[in-house]
This record gives sequence, structure tokens and C-alpha cells, in this order.
Amino acid sequence: DPAGLLGLPSRAERDTSADEQRRREQILAGAQERYYEHPMQIQRGWRHHLVDTTGRAYVDLVNNVAGLGHGHPGVADAVDRQIRILNTNSRFLYHELAEYSERLLALLPPDSPLDTVMLVNSGSEAVDLALRLVQAATGRKTVVALREAYHGWTTAGDAVTTSAYDNPYALDTRPEWVHVADVPNRFRGTYRGAAEDRSVGARYAADLGADLDRLARRGRPAAGFICESVLGNAGGVLLPEGYLADAYARVRAAGGLCIADEVQVGFGRTGSGFWGFERSAVIPDLIAIAKPMGNGFPIGGVITSRAVADALTSQGQFFSSTGGNPLSCRVGLAVLDAMEAEGTQRNAREIGRRLAAGFRALAERHGIIGPIHGEGLYLGVELVRDRDTLEPAAQEAAAICERLRELGVIVLTTSERSNVLKVKPPLCITAESADYAVAALDRVLTEGW
Ligand code: PMP
Repeated sequence: DPAGLLGLPSRAERDTSADEQRRREQILAGAQERYYEHPMQIQRGWRHHLVDTTGRAYVDLVNNVAGLGHGHPGVADAVDRQIRILNTNSRFLYHELAEYSERLLALLPPDSPLDTVMLVNSGSEAVDLALRLVQAATGRKTVVALREAYHGWTTAGDAVTTSAYDNPYALDTRPEWVHVADVPNRFRGTYRGAAEDRSVGARYAADLGADLDRLARRGRPAAGFICESVLGNAGGVLLPEGYLADAYARVRAAGGLCIADEVQVGFGRTGSGFWGFERSAVIPDLIAIAKPMGNGFPIGGVITSRAVADALTSQGQFFSSTGGNPLSCRVGLAVLDAMEAEGTQRNAREIGRRLAAGFRALAERHGIIGPIHGEGLYLGVELVRDRDTLEPAAQEAAAICERLRELGVIVLTTSERSNVLKVKPPLCITAESADYAVAALDRVLTEGW
């Protein structure tokens, strides 16, 4: 903590009683504290650590936004410098937007035909814009989404969100224009099949093809297909081999466009490529991006081709959003510089392997640890009551998270009803902290919870 910011909390912060804290939570709808029986307030962060108002420090295993960690000096300097120069956008092109957009395009695989960037403020907005673009570009309405996905909270994002866990805002009726296809590797049961049978990906893609045919016969051919490159809400589950390539080919043959939701897994998190889709050797028609590109600063965007973007902007329409303002673009540039200089992607790969190996070693001694999903620093540790039936141990998972917090590790499940510990720390996490987290889990499982 070179900035010396992690000193003692103020008296007011320290003296916040549990009652006072509960009262504060009352004025917040859906506050995160619902995860813990004993409430806490996070006050500060430093790299991959968090500190609460009592001064206790934790290893942060839940941060899918700040890839570079909390309090990054390069990001702080970028904000400080830019806010003194220009912090709002206008109808003029400004230097930071042009520079940042070029840097984003340069991150794509060399054979990518994508050449256009549209910036917004968040992942939900990015998904919303991508959905609207595929509808405008194809002149069609229906979008195909996978079950067990989360794509954001806007009305359109919510419509393609089908996770039983994470969709508390779901409207009772899904709009006509969404078609939900079965997730190829529903993480309980089917996933085991996927691991054993390489042809499972193709089989599910064939099912998707049959869905697309049916939609066309009913006179509502698909405008597009949206899918995360690694299934986040299913617990960081990797798509079966060949699935994405096959699915994209079928969607395109039916005249639709493919959207990759890289809001969580873009920007090096999986370690195997800068983008989550790289492990499948495909290139989407649209890429929705957000969270890590701003390291916590609000920014999001869609990367696509001029032809697709023109569907919304060709008739002189001005694409207007406070997104992509000079301040967020400058932060985005600082994030990319720091990622390169610090080798965060390599760290994600190495520490990810270390964590996964640690969890696998624990599985040999603790029967409650079921399948371990994911790649890089995007892992899901499934807790089960029975390894054969994979009966989920959701209540146990909540209690284990609580005990882990007491030992100084913050890790959560997708929701109170989920049995998957989602491990997605800042990409700068060290080997020491990774080992500490695994040892803490070992201790909880040994001593009981
Ligand atoms: N897509 C995915 C895959 C996400 O995980 C999220 C957020 N968790 C979103 C979209 C929405 O992003 P935001 O919270 O920035 O609106």
C-alpha cells in the first residue's frame, strides 16, 4: 500500500453498529450484503485485497471488473490528468476516442474483419446496442439466446437473460423476439457428458440448427445469436469443443449475425487469449465489451463491422451516448498500457493453473468438491452433496463463503441459490494469495462450517 491509504478507518466508519448497518442496507435495493449473515462494509481496496470498515483485510476473489486490481496508480494518474484537460464528450470527434478505438481494434486477431467501434457506459448498454444492431442490420426480429445466461439488466438484456439464478427482475413474459435454445453443457449432469464425449458440442449445435430451421419455417428467421464465450452464470463453464464454431456456422448459414458477450471474459481473464472466443478460433460479428476495459471506470462498447454499424448510423443518424467520453477512453488506454507492461494475461494463465490445481488437490480429500470449471482466472468450483448425482450443495456453499470471509477470503456464489463458488480475482493476484485462499478453503472443509 504505497499510497498509505489503508490506514485505520475513521471513528465513524469503525463505530457503525450492526443495527446501523442493517438500517443502511434497508435503503438499498438488492444490496450485495445479502450474501453474508453478518454484514460488512468494504471501505478500501489495494490490488487484489479489500479492507472493511473495521480494518480487516481480505483476498478479493470476486472482482471480475478491476483486472489490474484496486487503486492502480496508472489508472489513477490517467483519471487525474484527463479530468483536468477534457472530461466530457460533444458532437466533435476527440483525440482520445479515436486513439482508444484504434487500440481496441488492434487487439483483435489478425484475420478479423471487424473495423468499427461504438462506445457506451456499461455491459448492459453494450449488449442492448448489439441486440439492436443485429435486428437493424438483418431487418429481422428474433434473437436466439442460451439458457443459463446473464446478459445485463436493460429490457432487452433481461429478455435474453434466462438464468434461474440471476434474473430477479425477469418479467413474467419473455418477448416474442427471443428464442431460448438449451445451453450446450448445462453444468450439472450434461456437463459430465460434455467432458467425456467430444461430439457433444456438435450435437448441441445441431439442435441449435434445428431450432433455427423451425424459426425460419414459422416466418421469424433469426436476426442473431448471443452467447458468452465462457458461460459465466453456469459457473465459468467452458463450451464443449467445437460448439461455438459450429453454432456460428449454422447461425450465419441461416442469415443471422453472431454476438459474443465478452463483458466478463474479454481482456485476458481466461489467460488463453485476450478474448474468450479465441479459444474456439472463431470471430464473432459483434463483440460486446465492458467491465475490465475500464478497471472499474464505467465504460462499455460494441466492436463490429462498418456494414453492421451502418444499419443504425448510415442515414446520418448520430450515435449519441455519454459513453466513450475522453475520461473513460483515457482510462481505457491506461488499462491497456498497464496490462501489457505488467503481463496480467500471463499472470491470469499461471495463477489460474495454480488455483485450479489447488482446488483439484482439495477434491481428492473433500467429497463436497464436485466438478471444477473454467480457465485462467475465471473458475467455478461446484459444491455437491453427492458426486454421482451432483446434487447441489447450495446451503453449504453459503455457509462456507461465510467461514471463508472470517478467514480473510471473499468469494461468492452466483446467488444465494447457487452451489458454485465463482473464483474471479483481479488478474494481478499473487501466488501467495492464491495459495492462502486454497489453504483457507481446505481449513473450512476440514474443520466444518
Ligand atoms: N453481460 C455479462 C456476461 C455480464 O456478466 C454482465 C454483468 N455481470 C453484463 C453483461 C452486464 O454488465 P453491466 O453490469 O456492466 O451492465
